Amino acid sequence: MNKPQVFINQGVSCLKDILATHQTKKIFLVTGKTSYDQSGAEKLLQPLFKEIDVERFSDFQSNPQLTDILAGIVRFKQSHADIVIVVGGGSSIDVAKSINILAHQTSTINDIVKGKVQIEAKKRLPLIAMPTTAGTGSETTHFSVIYIDHVKYSLAHPYILPDYAIADVCLVKNMPKYLSASTGFDALAQAIESYWAVGSTEESKQYAKQAIEIILNNFVDSVHNPTNITNRRNMVYAAHLAGQAINISKTTAPHALSYILTTHWGIPHGHAVALTLGKFFIINANQNFKLNDKRGSKYVQKTLQELISMLGCNTPKRACSFIEKVMLEVGLEVDFLKLGFNPERDIHILLNNINLERISNNPVYIDIETIKNVFKY
Ligand SMILES: [Zn+2]
Repeated sequence: MNKPQVFINQGVSCLKDILATHQTKKIFLVTGKTSYDQSGAEKLLQPLFKEIDVERFSDFQSNPQLTDILAGIVRFKQSHADIVIVVGGGSSIDVAKSINILAHQTSTINDIVKGKVQIEAKKRLPLIAMPTTAGTGSETTHFSVIYIDHVKYSLAHPYILPDYAIADVCLVKNMPKYLSASTGFDALAQAIESYWAVGSTEESKQYAKQAIEIILNNFVDSVHNPTNITNRRNMVYAAHLAGQAINISKTTAPHALSYILTTHWGIPHGHAVALTLGKFFIINANQNFKLNDKRGSKYVQKTLQELISMLGCNTPKRACSFIEKVMLEVGLEVDFLKLGFNPERDIHILLNNINLERISNNPVYIDIETIKNVFKY
């Protein structure tokens, strides 16, 4: 599996050398609308862009729509840039990855996004990803997400992977409390899901295990004591490790269920994933379910047990309670109703927008009844 050249917690000055190496004359800079300034990134990076033309693109929604990407491609082509830099959260990084790969394709973009034709391995510009949240790990993955209406489509290709990942605490130190809680939970969920995923390997499990250990030791404090740079620095590293883990294994059921909670009910990604994560300790440990993982029941049980122990628990039920406890500790609402999702009233919307096949990376088979039980009060 390819990997970007990685600079973790080494400051951002390495960007200067990278720009010089590529003899950069014009940057296509993708950023969030407000996060670029609020994260402090603008102040830090502006001096490094001296004497280089910059075309900034921030005209997209979080959970980017195909229309946003198409508009971005027009701007990108007009810019005649020779490098792409993205500074932002998961959505910004998805936008930059999608624009950079799709702008160089010859097939119709709609067909590519809908999976009707494959992405061609065509030359695209060097991509530098600089996350302003400690969460998605998107700077180190070879996929990007695009929405058409409420439906989530995922692009996957080795050429989507950024060439450089610069993740530094100086870019995440100003994260507000809720963003820090939500994105930190995304990293935790990604690591846990990666560890039990059908697509896991020994390598991905090493990344995931290390990420979980670091997150458990630093997450809550990083949310409540943002001035303690050590916690945030450790979360930057852990989020990157979790990204490396899912780059190999991909995610599982809690992620698959989360996308519609985000697009329809506006629950931010990490928070939406956290809402069902705990329940899947109980579901995945239930030996009555049909297995998706060909490594067999003994293997799946052992993996679940290892995860439960990592959380300092001894039963799936306790692991489920532990996840809820961490959510409360970092200030994430655990009640669906208070978040606007009423399972009794709304479950059909959720079920209509979930592709059960996509949950085949979950260690056990998930049917409609199981999903209904996840949201039962
Ligand atoms: Zn995620």
